[in-house]
Amino acid sequence: MNEIPYTVHINKTAYENITAACPCCGKESIFNRATDLGVLTPIAFRAVFCLNPSCGKPFNIKGDCVNSVSEMLIFDCDELLEQKHYRYCVLSLAQAYEVFFSLFLRVEFLYKPYAADPNENAVKLHNFNRLAKQLSKKVEKYAFPKMRKLFLWQIVSGCSPLTLADAEAAIGKLKVRKDCPNDADLESLSDKELMPILKAIRDTQIDKLRNKVVHKQAYRPTWEEVESALDECRKLLPPLTWHLGLHDDPGWYVGENLAGR
Ligand SMILES: [Zn+2]
Repeated sequence: MNEIPYTVHINKTAYENITAACPCCGKESIFNRATDLGVLTPIAFRAVFCLNPSCGKPFNIKGDCVNSVSEMLIFDCDELLEQKHYRYCVLSLAQAYEVFFSLFLRVEFLYKPYAADPNENAVKLHNFNRLAKQLSKKVEKYAFPKMRKLFLWQIVSGCSPLTLADAEAAIGKLKVRKDCPNDADLESLSDKELMPILKAIRDTQIDKLRNKVVHKQAYRPTWEEVESALDECRKLLPPLTWHLGLHDDPGWYVGENLAGR
């Protein structure tokens, strides 16, 4: 596979699939990340075989996107909208929020404390893995509304754990409050750019729309409903991911930490 002369740029990247045109037969192959490629991280460069049965020639692909999972779920909606799969679009959008809340909690309670922890690497890694399991167990049954409350209250509290020991205590005390933060709570934040975004996330109805679509009612949403939800989501999650500096890679924070010294 080292001698493959052809390298093509990936035509389309989506959360589940990568599409690339074979340089030999010209046909597009859709590679499923989990089944065909066996890797879920972005593909910088990779040898593949054309999926057209009459061709099957090897070629290299490059140029995958490196956006966060929630951003990829949002991007997928363009195609779903075009194909008029409005129900799937609603599911993707609601999931984009849930994935975002989950990433925020991992960064806050695991990645950043790991990067700043004073212990030696082997100890840190052991504690990190232990805490990752604890956090995952704690939130595994939490649906959208509870994850949203945890996210919002964690920002409002301003108490970010500094080490893995702090994080362990914080995860132990993690409790879902009855209500979301009110306007006064959000307006008290010193970061004024955050306030309108957090209010909009608090008020989004995408979870309710998703429930109507999924449950017995099997509701069929209209283009207008989905377009409006997509527009709202695009204005909230990608800017907030950037503003909060969220990366789904503990190593990224270690690098940032070292660079900051
Ligand atoms: Zn081919």
